[in-house]
Amino acid sequence: MKQRCLTPVPNPELLPEPRELRSESKNCFGSRGSFANSGMGRLQKILFPFLGLVLAFWFYSARENFKPEMLKGKRVIVTGASTGIGEQMAYHLARMGSHVFITARTEAKLQKVVERCLELGAASARYVSGSMEDTAFAERVVQEAGTALGGLDMLILNHVGASYFGYFNGDVGHVRKLLEINFLSYVAMATSALPMLKESGGSIVVVSSMAGKVGFPFTVPYSATKFALDGFFSSLRQEFTIQNINVSITLCILGFIDTDSAVRAAADVLLVAPAPREECALEILQGAALRRRELYYRYGGTRLPLLLRDWAAELLDYLVRSRYRLDAMKGTSPQHPPSA
Ligand code: NAP
Repeated sequence: MKQRCLTPVPNPELLPEPRELRSESKNCFGSRGSFANSGMGRLQKILFPFLGLVLAFWFYSARENFKPEMLKGKRVIVTGASTGIGEQMAYHLARMGSHVFITARTEAKLQKVVERCLELGAASARYVSGSMEDTAFAERVVQEAGTALGGLDMLILNHVGASYFGYFNGDVGHVRKLLEINFLSYVAMATSALPMLKESGGSIVVVSSMAGKVGFPFTVPYSATKFALDGFFSSLRQEFTIQNINVSITLCILGFIDTDSAVRAAADVLLVAPAPREECALEILQGAALRRRELYYRYGGTRLPLLLRDWAAELLDYLVRSRYRLDAMKGTSPQHPPSA
């Protein structure tokens, strides 16, 4: 009679990993080795996914490099470009050979910026002056740019209305006015520009602040307008994704930058050094050209603290307050408030 083999045929799907098999057979009396091996197994279970995440992050963040040619010949509107970060963005764009269309209130300054842009190599440079308090003006800027340039590739919303730097003074009218300049005009311009941006597969760039992501003291009306921008444009981005609209939205979260107005308003009170506006302007353009969702400048002073927002909000609030020399706080300042 033939002997039947009673060894069950193993189902390969139910087999333990080869490594586990080996460790069990080697060490049937002692538990130390298997304990060490199971510890290793656990470590691997944590380590490999972690390494995977790090690699994915690295790959994702390094997926494309910026090249100045990306902006060559592009038709770009920059608001608030008579001075500060906006002025520097206009010069960078000019060096890269873009068509630059700038706006602000002060005509004499805009004229000078346009002249400089042409010297630096802009494909063309134009301006229109007026106040963003009036949404009709905001819409007109977009229409004039579209007519002059035959379309639009990038809309950079950067202007900011004057506000005070100090404790909230209860002036509701000022909050409303600031919302019109810093928020509603952004909405109006983006809305007017959308048909042209859809046609070109273009970009909207929204210059915001740390004060638009976390509560900042002494900048209550300003912070409110920046939070509003995040709500509007982040929601709009969601709808673009759902509707397959190929228009990118880059929200720029800036810390303290060394523009004249910001330094005048807060250098005595803030305990952090301002970052250079030229570098800041270039970072914004790079993030925009790469169609980044959000851009943080400088990264260490903005993105890293914001990681605390959901898990240690009070610690983050404390860190924000600790950046101010509170005893030096002035009552008010006519300049717009910066944020660090
Ligand atoms: P800035 O130097 O004060 O320049 C502001 C620009 O906006 C100027 O061109 C100004 O020109 C224009 N503007 C002001 N009121 C206007 C109005 N009613 N209508 C139309 N244009 C108006 O500002 P910045 O420091 O470069 O800031 C640029 C952007 O970065 C802002 O969105 C700001 O919130 C953001 N940011 C700055 C800092 C910082 O520390 N500097 C920090 C965080 C975020 P006219 O006066 O000629 O109109």
